[in-house]
Amino acid sequence: MPESAANIARNEKLKRRLQFYEDLGLAPFYRGRAASSSHSTQSQPVLNATVSSAHSIEESPLPKSASRPAAPVQVTAPPKSFVPLPSSGPSLFDATSKLASETLLQIRDDLGECTRCKLHSTRTKIVFGDGSPKAQLIFVGEGPGADEDAQGLPFVGRAGKLLTQMIEAMGLQRRDVYICNVVKCRPPGNRQPEPDEVAACSPFLFRQLDSIQPKVIVCLGATAFQTLLQTNRSISHYRGQWLDYRGYKMLPTYHPAYLLRNPAAKADVWKDLQKVMAELGLEVKKKAK
Ligand code: URA
Repeated sequence: MPESAANIARNEKLKRRLQFYEDLGLAPFYRGRAASSSHSTQSQPVLNATVSSAHSIEESPLPKSASRPAAPVQVTAPPKSFVPLPSSGPSLFDATSKLASETLLQIRDDLGECTRCKLHSTRTKIVFGDGSPKAQLIFVGEGPGADEDAQGLPFVGRAGKLLTQMIEAMGLQRRDVYICNVVKCRPPGNRQPEPDEVAACSPFLFRQLDSIQPKVIVCLGATAFQTLLQTNRSISHYRGQWLDYRGYKMLPTYHPAYLLRNPAAKADVWKDLQKVMAELGLEVKKKAK
């Protein structure tokens, strides 16, 4: 029987998606299972959590801290770009944890001179990340601004200076921690990254986190929080609370750029950072500027 147009279109879409995974170096983790399992058209929350944007996800309760290996936040609504894959075998999250032995250098090499999303056409430099590959603490921001785009380093502008002060107030140096962003290229005019940009870039963030395996991840602002937890909930409800990101302790707090506009919120952020310090066994000072 001749293949229907819908089937051909679906196969094309699947081919493109698999090519994308191959580009990310994930092929070995899904190829093997195709032979041993039958295809399913049911939703694959784990896959969604990896490749979709935060904006298309239905709400679900956010988990508190849990020990690894933890399931990602369950996602009930597949995004429009969802492509069914075999229902058994390792998920893409399993795949990313198998890549835990990847070095940051390997991930950076794989990113290459990236053209996976439209941000490549307006960027000056890719801003991959900066700091210790063995950091116990990772700060995740939204995306590079003008200064970061020019220098190729995260958080080096005004908001970055404030972040540096915050890190130093914790008794640390920038070189002790790791700093990166959800997207690696500057969104024009410092707009928020769009869902397709987050979907294209966030797998590299997930791999960076798994490469470093930090004790604590601090999400700076809503984009980082929503991307890691695959939610569109407002950060304000969760700010300062310990949450679980795949077994990593994760704490969302306000973005330093928000603090520049709302200095009164610095006290809340300092409280959050004190929680992080306690978790890391750093001496919590009574008062900080
Ligand atoms: N804001 C971010 O979210 N990241 C940076 O690197 C700089 C500013």
